[in-house]
Amino acid sequence: MHAHLMRSISAGVKLQSGNVGKVYPSLYSLQSRFYSSGEEADLVVIGSGPGGYVAAIKAAQLGMKTVSIEKNATLGGTCLNVGCIPSKALLNNSHYYHMAQHDFKSRGIEVSNVTLNLETMMAAKSNSVKALTGGIAHLFKSNKVQLVKGHGKITGANEVTALKEDGSTEVVRTKNILIATGSEVTPFPGIEIDEETIVSSTGALSLKQVPEKMIVIGAGVIGLELGSVWGRLGSQVTAVEFMNSIGGVGIDAEVAKNFQKILQKQGMNFKLGHKVTGAERNGNTILVNIESAQDPSKKEQLEANVLLVCVGRRPYTSNLGLEQLGIEKDEKGRIPVNSRFQTVVPNIYAIGDCIHGPMLAHKAEDEGVVCVEGINGGPVHIDYNCVPSVIYTHPEVAWVGKSEEDLKRDNIAYKVGKFPFVANSRAKTNNETDGFCKVLADKHTDSILGVHIIGPSAGELIAEAVLGMEYGASAEDIARTCHAHPTCSEALREAHLAAYCGKAINFG
Ligand SMILES: Cc1cc2nc3c(=O)[nH]c(=O)nc-3n(C[C@H](O)[C@H](O)[C@H](O)COP(=O)(O)OP(=O)(O)OC[C@H]3O[C@@H](n4cnc5c(N)ncnc54)[C@H](O)[C@@H]3O)c2cc1C
Repeated sequence: MHAHLMRSISAGVKLQSGNVGKVYPSLYSLQSRFYSSGEEADLVVIGSGPGGYVAAIKAAQLGMKTVSIEKNATLGGTCLNVGCIPSKALLNNSHYYHMAQHDFKSRGIEVSNVTLNLETMMAAKSNSVKALTGGIAHLFKSNKVQLVKGHGKITGANEVTALKEDGSTEVVRTKNILIATGSEVTPFPGIEIDEETIVSSTGALSLKQVPEKMIVIGAGVIGLELGSVWGRLGSQVTAVEFMNSIGGVGIDAEVAKNFQKILQKQGMNFKLGHKVTGAERNGNTILVNIESAQDPSKKEQLEANVLLVCVGRRPYTSNLGLEQLGIEKDEKGRIPVNSRFQTVVPNIYAIGDCIHGPMLAHKAEDEGVVCVEGINGGPVHIDYNCVPSVIYTHPEVAWVGKSEEDLKRDNIAYKVGKFPFVANSRAKTNNETDGFCKVLADKHTDSILGVHIIGPSAGELIAEAVLGMEYGASAEDIARTCHAHPTCSEALREAHLAAYCGKAINFG
């Protein structure tokens, strides 16, 4: 049965037929209504990142009088302004530059004097950001979300006060409040970020020239993506990582190992199992002190022109007024919520990077949607096991569900199906054969437990696996589903086939 309907039934919603729309009939009958100054709103959303802006639009569509309060000049939060969008613009265009320099010739495309115009590349990035942030402003208008620009502070269980740039305040009375204030860069103790030569991800998205040498602290998702950008543009990049593997939390160890080899082949250097102990400026260079995590007596000094600090992000909840309301943060600074995203004050909700779970834009969006549906009386459920992760390097890395290490740790009997892109006709035709698809299925029931892809368009391919897992598919289900030829998705199908019956058709 339709998994969404099953969830609704388990949440107590009565259904007459298999039509999802019937779960939320109000969505189709209610009109969006503009909040006007002075009256009581149904919902105030603080923060307009992917969590907050999506929640605000959904709430308005459900007929709630909705106000969005945003302190930044533009909408879209970290994701659109200094995160997902600008980083992907640079990843895409730096990839083209790299291809033009190193790959086109073997494809019969002779181009000479390939040069980088960094200013134009940055302008293209800014244009994408501008178009998308402006798009949210347009969506707010068309959906009747009232925008108030200013820093929002919760001044009562039913009141938010926005402090505006000109020093004035606007008080909004409201039935419900949704906190979607996101996250900020985690600082590195003892290393001061100037966003010029010692940069966070934000500064690394706007460097004015390609550094000859770049050191990245942290070989997690953001460090690898931004390291790749500058490596492709000509920088000699070294990533220093405390762990012995790259890719951050949740990545399958076999994929991580393969990924590291591919990035090394592309010229990225790694100092794994090392920690940075400090950094000092010396003229135009930065001296970075590192030591072995296992044996601190083994010390080294590395040199760079730019040091990129990428050690993670932390929830941002400054000056929100939580303390006065009795909302205490957890040990990581996150706002504790229940399964309906309610804080200890029942009409105050929180979603996205400022609560538990992976700090991902699509996770924040999904939470925003189900949270406001819940406020409107609907069921609230997210299967966090079905939230995919993607690293947008070249090749891309993507996964959903459990890794082999997770399954071993949890003592779950599983089978593995693998298929390399070198045996996939489309990947071979496109000369993009690095990587593989790996499917982990339950040994007894054949249900899909995890899917891991490193290879061309992994970030797009993973959607099929997410859909399969969300709807309880078995490896056989995917293996028996017709896939267009020639496509890279056939590699994913073959990996499911290998998991289900032990043998792929085109490999082995
Ligand atoms: C370089 C980089 C690359 C990334 N790439 C990806 C990616 O490819 N895919 C992905 O899924 N995730 C990516 N992320 C993570 C993603 O950006 C975050 O998970 C996502 O933005 C979280 O959304 P959010 O709505 O919770 O918060 P945010 O996007 O952080 O938005 C919070 C908003 O709240 C506003 N705000 C805060 N406090 C107040 C207040 N008191 N009053 C008014 N406004 C306030 C802020 O100004 C901000 O606009 C990336 C992050 C970075 C840094």
